[in-house]
Amino acid sequence: MSTLEENARKASEYIKRIREKGVLNRIGGKECPAIGGEIFETLSPIDLKPLVSVAKGDARDIDQAAKAAKAAQPAWAALSGAKRREILHTIADAIEARAEEIAFLECLDTGQSLRFMSKAALRGAENFRYFADKAPSARNGLSLPTGGQANITTRNPVGPVGVITPWNTPFMLSTWKIAPALAAGCTVVHKPAEFSPITASVLVEIAEKAGLPPGVWNLVNGLGEDAGAELTRHPDIKAIAFVGESGTGSLIMKQAADTLKRFHFELGGKNPIIVFADADLERAADAALFMIYSLNGERCTSSSRLLVEASIYDKFTATLAERVKTIKVGHPLDPATVVGPLIHPVHEKKVLEYISIGKEEGATIAVGGRKVDGPGGGCYVAPTLFTHATNNMRIAQEEIFGPVLTAIPFKSEEEAVFLANDTQYGLAAYLWTSDVTRSFRVSDKLEAGMIWVNSENVRHLDTPFGGVKASGIGRDGGDWSFDFYMETKNVSFATGVHTIPKLA
Ligand code: NAD
Repeated sequence: MSTLEENARKASEYIKRIREKGVLNRIGGKECPAIGGEIFETLSPIDLKPLVSVAKGDARDIDQAAKAAKAAQPAWAALSGAKRREILHTIADAIEARAEEIAFLECLDTGQSLRFMSKAALRGAENFRYFADKAPSARNGLSLPTGGQANITTRNPVGPVGVITPWNTPFMLSTWKIAPALAAGCTVVHKPAEFSPITASVLVEIAEKAGLPPGVWNLVNGLGEDAGAELTRHPDIKAIAFVGESGTGSLIMKQAADTLKRFHFELGGKNPIIVFADADLERAADAALFMIYSLNGERCTSSSRLLVEASIYDKFTATLAERVKTIKVGHPLDPATVVGPLIHPVHEKKVLEYISIGKEEGATIAVGGRKVDGPGGGCYVAPTLFTHATNNMRIAQEEIFGPVLTAIPFKSEEEAVFLANDTQYGLAAYLWTSDVTRSFRVSDKLEAGMIWVNSENVRHLDTPFGGVKASGIGRDGGDWSFDFYMETKNVSFATGVHTIPKLA
């Protein structure tokens, strides 16, 4: 296994190349600075020094990108599915070939640790391969013979799509939205998050080198309220695939109202992990720890509310607390690190404020609850476990999006279901019990788009991914992605000579 020093040396080579030219936009197949010439700097989460300068696109760049996507749309849609499959597989090959570079850049840009980021590129390539293989059949619909009419139902790409992504796991999430859009025959304008824009520019470069025609995938960097908002308002953009906070989702709906776009929203969560006394408690503890402290807890499906049956609550949380103490916080390029620095001082402040709020609300800090003096002096926060919390506390209701777990006891199955559902969110839920009947009964009542029973979040790309309530609209994965990126059209043919009402 490589050491921190070796990784840091390699990472500095990769980031040097990006720094030399800065993170640029890519419109109509050309890498370009923002039309207005403006830039912004990102901060390293590790040492808080400037990391890269980024093109600061605005309405002009979005307009140019949307026009490029519109111009490229007919030819991309007309390409055979087999050809699209070939191009998407070539992109996947090229992602795999640059996996190390992508992993290291992602660590430097986000602070999330190499232990998890080393798989980011491979997961991204998997997304491309999965949707590549679906491209040839994406347009297939139904053929329904009915009395006197034969119906052919087809699916067609919805048109240029605006993709807006968040700062957490930015590479994987970009591929997750863009691969199905391209497979469906849509062209794309992508606006990545301003905190972590680096790998989006690597990804679009990879795609064009792999043979994606100019204008099919355009990248505009910039601020959410500026470039992002303009993208949602642009009349040539027919749909918005957005991953981010629930509040931003509401704003986007309002911004896009005049142009009547369709939306696909993957939003926030406050996901419960429910542990019954009859569960395999060691495995339940493994899963609870993994789902909140991996990826710094900056993860939409993190299990941030731990609901534990009262009879085992003290023992279970005490064991957990001992294990949380041993979680290594450190430099994201250190192979031993689990929790790296949080993305940005603004986010660190938010997480530390929630820790103060939890204390004021009367919850007990069993472990952590403080800033850590980590390597480089960046945004390190200790993995934190709150015990003896109640579900009405803000630390149980609001998305903290950091390594902070809130543990709440419950006395009955009914109460567990009530507490799990008693939040505005409904993305994921995790259920631990050895009682099969109960697992069906409880899953049926949980208000969540995805439920894992006796498991952490294990993702199969065939299955639907998405949330209910304030956690999202729409599903991705399998053919569900095409429900969003494609329009359904029915053509009805008369198969005989029927009587048409004569009005005159
Ligand atoms: P955010 O909503 O602040 O920003 C997301 C993106 O939206 C960024 O690119 C930002 O620039 C842009 N944006 C901001 N304001 C905008 C506006 N007015 N119009 C258009 N675009 C705008 O979210 P974030 O802080 O970057 O990401 C964290 C959030 O994302 C968390 O809530 C997390 O749960 C959520 N998330 C959800 C999923 C999921 O699958 N459900 C996955 C990952 C992250």
